[in-house]
Formats: sequence, C-alpha cells, structure tokens
Amino acid sequence: MLNKKIKTLLIGTNNQGKLKEIKNLLPKNIKTLSTNQFNIISPRENGKTFKENSLIKSRYFSKKTNQICLADDSGLQIDILKKKPGIYSARWGGKKSNFKKAIKRVFRELNKKDKDWKIKKIKAQFICALSISYLDRKIACVEGKVDGRISPIPRGKNGFGYDPIFIPNKYKETFGEMKLSKKYKLDHRFKAFKKIKKFL
Ligand code: IMP
Repeated sequence: MLNKKIKTLLIGTNNQGKLKEIKNLLPKNIKTLSTNQFNIISPRENGKTFKENSLIKSRYFSKKTNQICLADDSGLQIDILKKKPGIYSARWGGKKSNFKKAIKRVFRELNKKDKDWKIKKIKAQFICALSISYLDRKIACVEGKVDGRISPIPRGKNGFGYDPIFIPNKYKETFGEMKLSKKYKLDHRFKAFKKIKKFL
C-alpha cells in the first residue's frame, strides 16, 4: 500500500485556517478527508520540536482512522524572545485560540525585553513541519520556513493567528494584509509542501 501513489489522505488538523490552506496546496487528484468527519479530538502535543509534534499528530490521527495522514505543526519564532512562542504559538491564544490575546502577549513580552522594540527590526520566522504517517510508520517529515519581522501594530484582516503582525522579508505589508493567494505562495507551509510533494 505504501509504495503506491497516495489516493486518499486524511488532513490531521482541527484548525480550519490550516485545513483550507493545506487543501489548496495538495494535488487535485488526491481525495482529502478531514478530522471532523471522524469527530476526533486533537492529541496532546508534548514534543519538543515542530517536527516531533507534527509526527505525534500524523501518527495519532492515522491510528484513530486507519488512513494515511498528513499533519502539520507550525508557529512563530521571535529571535529576541529566544524563539518564543515557537511550539507554544497556539497555546499563547488560550483555550479558545483567541489570537488577539496571543498578539497582546507577544507585545507584552517584547516590551519586557526591550522598551524600544517598536523602532527596531524584530526578526521572526514562521516555521511549518509537515509529516505523513501510516499508523506508526513515518512516510515523510520535512520543515519549511519564512523569514520576516514583527509589525508594532496589527494590520489586516486576512489569514489567521499571528498574520496581522508578521511582515515577510522583501515586503511592506503583513500577511494579514496580503491576499490569501499571495500569502499561500510564499509562506512556511508552501515551502514545506514543496519538500513533501515527492512523497505524494
Ligand atoms: P499548531 O500547529 O496547531 O500547534 O498551531 C500553530 C499556531 O501557530 C497557530 O494556531 C497560529 O497561532 C500560529 N500559526 C501557524 N501558522 C500560521 C500562519 O500561517 N499564520 C499565522 N499564524 C500561524
């Protein structure tokens, strides 16, 4: 089964923003299934890296459904915060994934670190690890990254999560201001997809 082309793939995420983006990136001949069709809650993400967490999710959802599963783990790293929020990016939004709250926490931590951060270039990266598993077996695991800086004011209503405060290098607008079609072609998930394509 694993040496054949993948025809059906479960997307192991309960995050609707990610689900939409991942579906757009997959070849159209692959039939996708989503976790809410199976009504499965997400596993505990207790890995130490994005790759470990994505493997935890792809294995877990695959075993629950007996389907080949693609899962991602992603987040924002800020250099002067020692790469935080990192793998805790979702958790900074609290139980209800409130991203206004997560962004406020970023600003609070930056203020603590350096009162003048707003007039400096605060380097940051979005990271995306993608993995494909069938039951306990790892089929692929890759990582993609996009470099940028933090905007001192949230801007734009597109996308999700930290998009309103992330300005990718070589651009002036935040991901939140960009058309989704433009963001999708330069972000961390797209770059990870380029690497994982050969396994599909
Ligand atoms: P997880 O991969 O489900 O643990 O969550 C990753 C978290 O990182 C999301 O909930 C967002 O807060 C953030 N994140 C990941 N990718 C993006 C993105 O493309 N835009 C904005 N925020 C993102």
